[in-house]
Amino acid sequence: MKTEQYRDMLLHCEKLLAQAHTVDSEKNKEAVREAAKMLSFSGLEMKRLDVSGKLMIQKICFMKQERESQAEAKEYRFEEENGIFAVYKVYPPADQKEWDEECVSWLDFFVMLLHEANMRQNLVQDANYYRYHDPQTKHTNMAYFSECCDHYIKKQVIDQYTAMAVNLSDFTNLNLLIGSKNCDTVLIRFMDWLKAELGEDEVVSRTSGDQFALLIHKDHEESILDKLRSSEIRYGKQPNDVVTVSAEAGIYRLTADVESYHNIIQAISSALNIAKNSVQLEFAYYDPMSAEASEKKKFYEEAFEKALVNEDIHVFFQPKVSLKDYDLIGAEALSRWIVDGEVVPPDSFIPILEETTRICELDFYVLEHVCKSIQGWIQHGVKPVKVSVNFSRRHLSNKNLVNDIVQMLDKYEVPHQYIEIELTETTIDADFAALKQIVYGLREHGIESSVDDFGMGYSSLSLIRDVPFKVLKIDKSFLGDKNMESDERQRAMMKHVISMANDLGMECIAEGVESMEHVQLLKESKCYMAQGFLFNRPIPQEEFEEMLTQA
Ligand code: C2E
Ligand code: MG
Ligand code: MG
Repeated sequence: MKTEQYRDMLLHCEKLLAQAHTVDSEKNKEAVREAAKMLSFSGLEMKRLDVSGKLMIQKICFMKQERESQAEAKEYRFEEENGIFAVYKVYPPADQKEWDEECVSWLDFFVMLLHEANMRQNLVQDANYYRYHDPQTKHTNMAYFSECCDHYIKKQVIDQYTAMAVNLSDFTNLNLLIGSKNCDTVLIRFMDWLKAELGEDEVVSRTSGDQFALLIHKDHEESILDKLRSSEIRYGKQPNDVVTVSAEAGIYRLTADVESYHNIIQAISSALNIAKNSVQLEFAYYDPMSAEASEKKKFYEEAFEKALVNEDIHVFFQPKVSLKDYDLIGAEALSRWIVDGEVVPPDSFIPILEETTRICELDFYVLEHVCKSIQGWIQHGVKPVKVSVNFSRRHLSNKNLVNDIVQMLDKYEVPHQYIEIELTETTIDADFAALKQIVYGLREHGIESSVDDFGMGYSSLSLIRDVPFKVLKIDKSFLGDKNMESDERQRAMMKHVISMANDLGMECIAEGVESMEHVQLLKESKCYMAQGFLFNRPIPQEEFEEMLTQA
């Protein structure tokens, strides 16, 4: 070979290597053909042999017709990973019986580079394959599912499809029963079998463990759900190697306004969670309304800790008045959450916080705030009134509740008579016992308790008979609306409840007093304390303090 030929050869090999990063087999063939021309060999074959020497792949990379008449081919062997061999067979130039020595040394070099290029190409192919496939089941994966969703969204055909997140039921138990290897087989067979049911443009992708996602035509939904309800899967050759598999699913019938695969995945996952947590439902449909509610829930849950630190939850005071002289006799502390300058009423967030023990943090936050305020009033020479603080039933399981409350009052040196703890009625026996203990415990420390919203629950009578509450807060529903268009019987009942409470030595206060008619009725019934919009709505602290100073 001439010097320029060597140089060309080297350049060519470089090109070949650079190209190996692509999976364009036409270009690679082209490169082999060029090399053949330069090194004048007449053919190249490539084989892969497994550990036992069995042929896995045989590829004719390049072959000239007249090859058959030629001298012996040169063979190159390279060991790859796991004992696999790559074998290259190169046939000599058509018109020569012997290999030219110089040419052989270049050929050695060329084959080595070619092998390197092939290895890289395999890696690229593997990487591409595993980008979209799950190594265990060989089915497509989440990345594939997501790209398909986005592709159909772009093509504006997404509304023809239904998406599902599927979870095989009881797979943990099945693992214990038939072993994890068999379970893996069950999962693979189940997915194989679903895949066989699906059309070209439909997708089943493994998402994790025993979960997968489906993207199917809407009119295919029923038949797929049938399969998910119950299917027999064979995992071995023995007659008994069969299990019945069923699945839970979160389903989203897609609409044209879906914006991205994120929305789809989020929707089917949240619907699947509903199905998994429900005793009756095996399939749950995604409902945008409930999704909005859960979004709101998530927002408040996440923002809560920060709100406490930043004091975004404000304490408002609703005055309580005497119906004898309309004097200010106390107040109820009520939470208001300020989000972006807007006041959020407690009904929007208390039920959410009540699902966990976060509500307990809030109640103590309010209690601390009230204690600090009362201490401030005392220091400024303003005579405090009794302030009631709402305590959720979530506290009933806290064995230290009484101590915790007392400690808080003592920390701010608040005389115990200025705090009242409002607790709601309860219908659960275990809670009833706890409630009784707490009310007794508080009373021992001179802290009074009241039954909030009395009349809303069912255990009312035994509650006030057995638990030493000081105050009964009659629920606003007893009074009916402003014009007293309430049930006659309900008002009769209220009169009796008040009279009974008075007989038991309890004080009564009516909530939701909105009109003079209400006041009249309360006076007739011998209830002389009231709280309601007729007098004041819950007001910010500064406003209340002004009122207190004037009083
Ligand atoms: P609640 O303890 O029964 O508080 C009385 C509720 O009735 C307050 O609603 C008050 O604004 C409302 N109200 C007062 N007067 C009238 C009236 O004349 N007419 C009508 N229609 N309503 C009146 P708010 O402030 O929205 O509180 C609702 C509930 O949220 C409270 O009911 C209480 O159960 C709970 N809550 C508020 N703050 C807290 C807190 O810090 N901790 C706990 N655990 N619960 C709280
Ligand atoms: Mg209350
Ligand atoms: Mg109430």
